Amino acid sequence: MPPSTTIERKRDGHALSVSEIQLFVTGATDGSWSAEQLGAMLMAITLQGMDDNETATLTQAMLHSGTTLSWPENLRGRVVDKHSTGGVGDKISIPLAPILASVGLFVPMISGRGLGHTGGTLDKLEAIPGFNTQQTPEQILQQVENVGCAIVAQTNTVVPADRRLYAIRDVTGTVPSTPLITASIMSKKLAESLDALVLDVKVGGAAFMSSIEDARILAASMVSAGKAAGVKTSALLTTMDHPLGYTIGNALEIEESIDVLEGKGPRDIVELAEAQAALLIQAVGLAKSYQESLQLAQSAIETGEAAKRFLQMVQAQGSGAQSLSQLRDALPQAPFVYNLQAKKSGILQDIDALALGRAAVDLGAGRRQPDDKVNPSVGFRLLVQIGEPITKGQDLIEVHTSSEDYPSEVIGACFTINEGGLQESPSRIIETVN
Ligand code: URA
Repeated sequence: MPPSTTIERKRDGHALSVSEIQLFVTGATDGSWSAEQLGAMLMAITLQGMDDNETATLTQAMLHSGTTLSWPENLRGRVVDKHSTGGVGDKISIPLAPILASVGLFVPMISGRGLGHTGGTLDKLEAIPGFNTQQTPEQILQQVENVGCAIVAQTNTVVPADRRLYAIRDVTGTVPSTPLITASIMSKKLAESLDALVLDVKVGGAAFMSSIEDARILAASMVSAGKAAGVKTSALLTTMDHPLGYTIGNALEIEESIDVLEGKGPRDIVELAEAQAALLIQAVGLAKSYQESLQLAQSAIETGEAAKRFLQMVQAQGSGAQSLSQLRDALPQAPFVYNLQAKKSGILQDIDALALGRAAVDLGAGRRQPDDKVNPSVGFRLLVQIGEPITKGQDLIEVHTSSEDYPSEVIGACFTINEGGLQESPSRIIETVN
């Protein structure tokens, strides 16, 4: 069947057959479909959608476009991972992987780089001198077996169809499509041959999905694709209007991740790391109840086991640090640190995560162009939290910058201070989708 026939069928709102979806994915992988044909098909899917069967078939076809990881008998049943749809200050994966490893799970975490105003786990970890995120499937397997966790970049051979399709989606207005996002994310996660997966679907002004309804639909779609592939999958819908924790920027977020592992982390980061760990611990049957699973995650931090595991992981991936304090001392520091002050008194109502995320990219913490080099030392440390009474002249934020010239007005405008009380929810978790 020529590509144009399949494109026309989707354009006209028909459900595609398994063989049509397979042809499309093969066409993306081996180049037998042109970029124009792929772009047209992606737009037809974006406009017409796909039903659950089509989405599951697309996910499977993309998954099998490349190699998948496979695990020895002794690890099976306990291989787990998480995926976040991306946020500002979202460093949860960094403490989460060693927490899970220290309770006896195996975590082959294939992570991404910053996308737009959202930070990327790989960029954060590369702030650690010597840390190497490029590993072959054999190296990933060996490290996961020895240390329990590895946080690495996608290899060339895993889900090659997504590489081509994602690049075309990026320039054809076809990123925001539930079936395409589901297949893109889930094919990469399923390529890790997981037993359980937790998804952190962010909702809010600085998230990919700004409404709870859209986030619910995406979460349900990804959970169903995971379950269809035999992976115990759940999703947390979590708020992303304000930055997570106090830091934004690569080296600063590593410091805060170490704080979490040393039991001194900010409440919201600790809450999400422990909740995600608990869902995975329960899913693989390591504890009987959610509460018991949560206690296991908490004691991994309290006993220092998770911190030890983190040090082992960074050493295995190239860091020469002999202790977490050496690791902290080795992190790059920005040449200038400025404090910005409040221009009026009142209650801190809002810290605009989207604007602050964009300002961090402008400082050099993220990329404007795909080939830009990230500056690991720049970023922000918040000195206040939402709901706090603020006095005029009080320090609000540290700006870690490589230049004396930085956008102080833009950064100051991220803080809304007004009179009046504030009903701030104590939890970031909106709901769990199973
Ligand atoms: N991240 C991905 O990997 N794929 C998408 O489609 C969206 C976010």
